Amino acid sequence: MPRVAEGFARIRLLAAGICSTDLELQRGYYGFRGVPGHEFVGEVTEASETRWVGKRVAGEINLACGKCEWCAKGLGRHCPQRTVLGIVKHPGAFREYLTLPVSNLHRVPESIPTEHAVFIEPVAAACEILDQIKIAKQEPVAVLGDGKLGLLIAQVLHAHGARVQMFGRHREKLRIAERAGVTTELAGKKLPERRFPIVVDATGSAEGLREAISMTVPRGTVVMKSTVHGLVPIDTAPAIVNEITLVGSRCGRFEPALKLLASGKVRVEDLISEEFPLDRAPEAFERAATKGVLKVLLRAAG
Ligand SMILES: [Zn+2]
Ligand SMILES: [Zn+2]
Repeated sequence: MPRVAEGFARIRLLAAGICSTDLELQRGYYGFRGVPGHEFVGEVTEASETRWVGKRVAGEINLACGKCEWCAKGLGRHCPQRTVLGIVKHPGAFREYLTLPVSNLHRVPESIPTEHAVFIEPVAAACEILDQIKIAKQEPVAVLGDGKLGLLIAQVLHAHGARVQMFGRHREKLRIAERAGVTTELAGKKLPERRFPIVVDATGSAEGLREAISMTVPRGTVVMKSTVHGLVPIDTAPAIVNEITLVGSRCGRFEPALKLLASGKVRVEDLISEEFPLDRAPEAFERAATKGVLKVLLRAAG
């Protein structure tokens, strides 16, 4: 049972999602030891601020110092002192009880079921793009990659009003985006060149960035949403000659994600592949690592 420090809450897990980052931690990419898990919904059982007790919550994953210049700007996600739930020096959510500062918590509205609310964190990561670059209504945007994050990004940008074209290699995954109103294209060998003012790379592959750059019009923007391990060999000339802006993108604010999930504009139901009880987590991890599987959820008993 984790202790509750001043300013923190103890949260009983209801459900959590396994994401690619968790699989990478398991493979040892970040030298992480301990309890992983950062996409979760739980119920507060104890908190220094009692008004939180009994509430169903999701939690922002970066634990910031609250004192530095980044924190003062509201960018605790970039605080150099930060720890990160289940990723950097703070035990994660794949356990019966976890702790987070109450300032990280967001109440989950009644209208969002627990298994959908588990997606708040990845939807927030998709929404981050809209905080970073300006995308006009009806502006053409290409999304590369039809994995979990790509599917969320396509839906978020579509809900924003962009003209989204999604490129992926799996017909059944593209269908999920289609049902949300996104135009899709099965990516063959030849992707369109110099076509889009904005291209989001969510392929998770080393090839993705090069492809994204070649699809972007001069003076356009490539948003990098793939974390690829190891070096990405890339010819920088096309980016330089065409004066393309490269934007790295990671976590986002929870507020817009909560709104989108509550409105039903982003559909996550189809992204859930399977659910496992927490005590079968090893099996759930194996399943999540299987090709073609989307989101695997862990559910607490009772
Ligand atoms: Zn994640
Ligand atoms: Zn700070």
